[in-house]
Amino acid sequence: QSGTASAPARSRISVRNLTKTYRTRRGDVTALRNVSMDVDEGEIMVLLGPSGCGKTTLLRCVAGLEHPDAGEITVNGRTVYSSERGISLPPERRNLSMVFQSYALWPHMSVFDNVAYPLRTAKTSADEVRRRVGEVLDTVGLEKYGSSYPGQLSGGQQQRVSLARALVANQGVILFDEPLSNLDAKVRDRLREELLTLQRKIGFTALYVTHDQTEATGLGDRIAVMEVGTVAQLGSPTDIYYTPASRYVADFVGSANELTGSVAEAVGDRVRVDTSVGPLLGTPTAGMAKGEPVRVLFRPEHCLIAPDGAAAEGNRFSCTVERSTFLGSHVEYNLSASGQRLVLKTMDGNLLASGAKVAVSLDPTLARVFPAD
Ligand code: ATP
Repeated sequence: QSGTASAPARSRISVRNLTKTYRTRRGDVTALRNVSMDVDEGEIMVLLGPSGCGKTTLLRCVAGLEHPDAGEITVNGRTVYSSERGISLPPERRNLSMVFQSYALWPHMSVFDNVAYPLRTAKTSADEVRRRVGEVLDTVGLEKYGSSYPGQLSGGQQQRVSLARALVANQGVILFDEPLSNLDAKVRDRLREELLTLQRKIGFTALYVTHDQTEATGLGDRIAVMEVGTVAQLGSPTDIYYTPASRYVADFVGSANELTGSVAEAVGDRVRVDTSVGPLLGTPTAGMAKGEPVRVLFRPEHCLIAPDGAAAEGNRFSCTVERSTFLGSHVEYNLSASGQRLVLKTMDGNLLASGAKVAVSLDPTLARVFPAD
């Protein structure tokens, strides 16, 4: 029934032109529009985006829990879904494991039996079950909990059981659906670290859904930022942070200040933009004509702030401090400049008082110029 795929050789999960529409009483909701991506061997690909952008639907289509309308999915080089060829393997034949937000453990089974489940359904011998479950419980730090029941464990421990169950089957591909979002902040951070260490050690391939950008940048080798059923940008965390492809991406991964203006001239591979705070040099993200309306985006942490009148050179403009907030690791300034409100972050602990006149300077490489639409 299945055949060889057209995906690149190193790809463990390949999605081609996937489309999925839910038919509801209130009309059709298109959750995925022609989505394509490849997850390479040993890579963690994070699907990131706000609620409703389609990330869970994509994960569930790969798992076989949801039926797409069109497209093709291959896992480990095997076609598990193809609308054209009429292939749709059930979840248990897709050779992947899944970790859910809700842990999805059987409450009446011991930790050992929960973890052993995939091996027993695959008719593994009792000796081997004992050996492999023992090993994997050791790996996730639960070697003493085999005879406990899920209800006796903390949320973090239950999620470790669920991870152990995903690892024991040794399929090489694991799908994660917001696995840390039910846990409190400290446990979440620790489990995220542990997950990364484990992944580096074992080398499984992961497709990982989250709406948390810290989780995405901390875990992902690459991130697919999703926007209403499409991939807005796919790249490494640094690509996405430093060179966001759109205002949507810039705002979702980190935050951005925005100044509107129009293109005055091209200066080498930069453009000079006339804005309400004066002319600013930035890096264009598309071909731009003179006079074209644009927006200059820059991150609060990518500006320098100095008392006004200090050596006036470079790409700078004057602002007034409205409020300064000491946040321990950094200071946040709310500034106003010609009626525009801006936010700035700096590690410099010398607080500038409200009402102070300051100069803000921008690195033209980190000031990105987008068409205004
Ligand atoms: P969340 O983080 O809230 O789960 P998401 O990015 O994972 O969001 P999806 O759950 O994939 O998004 O939903 C994408 C779109 O499809 C949304 O508009 C959602 O309302 C709709 N949708 C999802 N599941 C169903 C369903 N079973 N029936 C009808 N519409 C659905």
